[in-house]
Amino acid sequence: MTATVIDGKAFASRVRDKVATHVARLKDEHGITPGLAVVLVGEDPASQVYVKSKGKMTKQVGMLSLEYRLNADAAQDDLLALIADLNANPEVHGILVQLPLPGHMDESYVLAAIDPAKDVDGFHISNVGLLGTGQKAMVPCTPLGCLMMLRDHHGSLSGLDAVVIGRSNIVGKPMAQLLLGDSCTVTIAHSRTKNLADVVRRADIVVAAVGRPKMVSGDWIKPGATVIDVGINRTDDGLVGDVDYASASQVAGAITPVPGGVGPMTIACLLANTVTACCRANDLAEPEGLTA
Ligand code: NAD
Repeated sequence: MTATVIDGKAFASRVRDKVATHVARLKDEHGITPGLAVVLVGEDPASQVYVKSKGKMTKQVGMLSLEYRLNADAAQDDLLALIADLNANPEVHGILVQLPLPGHMDESYVLAAIDPAKDVDGFHISNVGLLGTGQKAMVPCTPLGCLMMLRDHHGSLSGLDAVVIGRSNIVGKPMAQLLLGDSCTVTIAHSRTKNLADVVRRADIVVAAVGRPKMVSGDWIKPGATVIDVGINRTDDGLVGDVDYASASQVAGAITPVPGGVGPMTIACLLANTVTACCRANDLAEPEGLTA
């Protein structure tokens, strides 16, 4: 068997088109321009690249893009004051504080200062709680992108066995909640899981979010399963995922490549979350298919 390749790049482009259409409608019919504010503290090179491409894509879909930079040695209170201003700014519908923050700042304290309604990363404890209790939340972008691709491929996910490898707050846990919300039978595996290969072999859906190059090999995969590879690992062979693509793609029914799979969906979902937040703030209908 050779797996169907789930093309995240093309999928993300369709999501951005949908966002752009909705943004145009908000402008034309309501005179509202959705706005996303991105805050970068310090000069981490990877973060600078992410922030730049977020700004570029925000503008491309017709939204207002605001960028704020603080020095690496800025006081946490300065960052909190900026977040308070953005919370109060009616032009801003989404706020993203680029992580990681410098060591002298308390990440959870800073994230808790963001208005949950503008928390387009979905990391605020209120949104975590809303998602965990099956209520309308802002959903973390990477797992939201994975869910969109799974729904598109399978139609209904109801009753499928899903194994999520990784239990981080950013990917693994929200991914598991989303799959549960779509009525999968969900197992979360992690670094202490015994017989991981056997656990993965039961799955109709495997989501790998570990950060270990090519850890999941083809002989762990149930024939025909769908494999979503979240991992981004820089190696001497270039960028590789957590899944050994060469062997897994011979067994799986469908698989996301790295690069070109989950990665492009993350920023597309950030834009989707911003438009959703804007609609919710203005009591307007949300675009279909862009939320969980
Ligand atoms: P993390 O380091 O916070 O969590 C990794 C998880 O993997 C942990 O829960 C740990 O228990 C588990 N783990 C570690 N070793 C394991 C092992 N041997 N067996 C089973 N489980 C093991 O990482 P994260 O933030 O969740 O990110 C995971 C990967 O996804 C990374 O490669 C990261 O770069 C990538 N990522 C990609 C995107 C994207 O947009 N595509 C977004 C976020 C993260």
